[in-house]
Amino acid sequence: MNNTYASNLGAHHWTEMSDASTPSITHPHTAVSAAIHRSDGATRNKILRLLPPAELAALVERSELVEVKSKQILFQPEQRLEYAHFPEDCVISLVTVLEDGDQVEAMTIGNDGFSGIPIFHEIESSKHKGCGQITGTALRLAAKDFHDLARELAGLRRLLHRYSQFVFETAAQSAACNRLHVIEQRCARWLLMSQERVGRDSFDLTQEFLAEMLGVRRPGVTVAMGILEKAGLIAHGRGNITVMNRPGLEKASCECYRTIRARQAKLIA
Ligand SMILES: [Zn+2]
Repeated sequence: MNNTYASNLGAHHWTEMSDASTPSITHPHTAVSAAIHRSDGATRNKILRLLPPAELAALVERSELVEVKSKQILFQPEQRLEYAHFPEDCVISLVTVLEDGDQVEAMTIGNDGFSGIPIFHEIESSKHKGCGQITGTALRLAAKDFHDLARELAGLRRLLHRYSQFVFETAAQSAACNRLHVIEQRCARWLLMSQERVGRDSFDLTQEFLAEMLGVRRPGVTVAMGILEKAGLIAHGRGNITVMNRPGLEKASCECYRTIRARQAKLIA
């Protein structure tokens, strides 16, 4: 019943909200198998992995596996949120959009978290835009199901509170980072975090998109990426990037990468 509710809502709203291409939506039960029966036998999402088995089963029962594409709009500012997403291997950006159309990424959400914090806090919409950053899959729940599960499941609720705190701390750290650290360091941090979240060394990324996410002009990103590439830390082709030397990239990043990672380990546990 819940699945039918979610699917019906899903089919309708995806067509409205996404680009021309419609993401594939598998039957919930098939989707669940695909999502959680990977080689390691578990979902990749860190919050879901921490749930007691009965809670995970209850959540998975009401979810469906969807593909989230790069640049796909999941929700617009102040538009009613229809879904929560738990990324498996996609990465989602929360973006702050200014009156003149300029935009900067406020938060990156990968398999360490979920999108839909306003729903959890019983707020209908967000000031942010939500869009796909790196194409991949996510477990998606209709807003009502997600809201009800967060009330019913104590383990889930605890983790959602902890992740909410992590998002606040990350946004605060990013505010300092954007103001005080140089583009090269910020590029390195962003690439490290994206690599971790997507779970592989190569992923789709254009310099234009990275400039938009970092809130800087594209020539600045081109110079910074050139420095990282010359040092053998990354390689980039048309529309994609490969992390070649992760320890080197960590050294090239500002302290914010280590700070955020340490808080992630403490809070998402
Ligand atoms: Zn920084």
